[in-house]
Amino acid sequence: MLNVIQDSHRQKNAEALARLGVGIRRCVKCPLHKSRKHAVPGEGHARAPILLIGEAPGAFEDQQGRPFCGRAGQFPDGLLERCALKRSDVFITNSVKCRPPNNRPPHSKELQTCYKHWLRRQIDIIDPEIIVLFGNIPVRQLLHVNRSLKELHGQFYQKADRLYQIQYHPAAGMRFPNLGAAMARDFEKLSRFSQRPKPRRRHKDD
Ligand code: SF4
Repeated sequence: MLNVIQDSHRQKNAEALARLGVGIRRCVKCPLHKSRKHAVPGEGHARAPILLIGEAPGAFEDQQGRPFCGRAGQFPDGLLERCALKRSDVFITNSVKCRPPNNRPPHSKELQTCYKHWLRRQIDIIDPEIIVLFGNIPVRQLLHVNRSLKELHGQFYQKADRLYQIQYHPAAGMRFPNLGAAMARDFEKLSRFSQRPKPRRRHKDD
């Protein structure tokens, strides 16, 4: 019986995320829509215990409409694998869903608009146990913290009723071996966290 209820919650969440995805692909609420080829809503498990949030789609993601695809996706996929996790076990998205021109950092207003209309609703629907923030941009957007990642990465933070872990961005981890090694250690911490015994997660509809 429990499995049947859980499957029906997952199905409801998947439908709600798909509806948001349709809205995101048509969204013109901030100037970033002007330069995108495809908006990138995100993908993964509709009731994922772990939600991964990157900064913004890059050129390949913009072409494909999928997050962390191509070479940029191999690195986080490898880190997930080391923790016995698959991409389909988690949900992956970005702070903003459209690629900024020339990969510039998203402006504060764009971050606020995309959070208010889309990311906040994705978080509410998925209701993850932990949110992993890749890079400074989602840290600023969700935690309003503007400090060095060297100081912040790997730690767990509680804000309101949500738990967060801050990590370097996978692109930085791919480029700089010392940051890649730090990410591997941070993923191990995340894996230990996700394997710890915990009380049954209550869903809004339980
Ligand atoms: S970045 Fe977000 S708010 Fe801006 S146009 Fe794209 S989906 Fe809409």
